Amino acid sequence: MSFTLPPLPYAHDALAPHLGERTLHFHYDKHHRGYVDKLNAATRGKPEANRSLEELVRTLPPGPTFNFAAQAWNHQFYWQCMHPRGGGDPSGALAKRITRDFGSAQVLKQKLCEAARDEFGSGWAWLTVRDDGTLAVFSTNDAENPLQAGLTPLLALDVWEHAYYLDYQHEREKYITAFLDHLLCWQFVADNYAASVIGEQQHSKRA
Ligand code: FE
Repeated sequence: MSFTLPPLPYAHDALAPHLGERTLHFHYDKHHRGYVDKLNAATRGKPEANRSLEELVRTLPPGPTFNFAAQAWNHQFYWQCMHPRGGGDPSGALAKRITRDFGSAQVLKQKLCEAARDEFGSGWAWLTVRDDGTLAVFSTNDAENPLQAGLTPLLALDVWEHAYYLDYQHEREKYITAFLDHLLCWQFVADNYAASVIGEQQHSKRA
């Protein structure tokens, strides 16, 4: 079995002008594909080749194979966190949870902006849900992923320079603001939250 590059959920130019076609060309066709190809090369003929990507991210020790697996997972997730008509505010059960944990969606967006802006060097900003159902915002370095700490990711924001440099050069915060205001796909975040709630209920029943 080998790991595959899932299709982009939209056309390469669909996120313009907030993220241009050239950015998606390099980010998806070169960087994301490169992580998948390197993961396949690193796991060929090994038991890891028959595990799921998520299992690899949860269990592999730090090192090159973890980095390729986590970057493959992170990018697959990141593309789904954006939509050509994204932005706005969350609704439904997710919105209630956000208001309970952060006070408002605006406060959550500010925390995401700070986490993404202040991550030093390459990394990711995340909205996650803990086992007790509460939400948490933080950033991770390089390829690191909240699954390693047993948290469930709801939203990922790539702050490696390759994610924004062609469009925004050094101005990372402008990219973050465009992501939050125009690209963020709240429906995907809400679907992940709903799945985490169902997963928690099943877990409680078994316990
Ligand atoms: Fe990236």
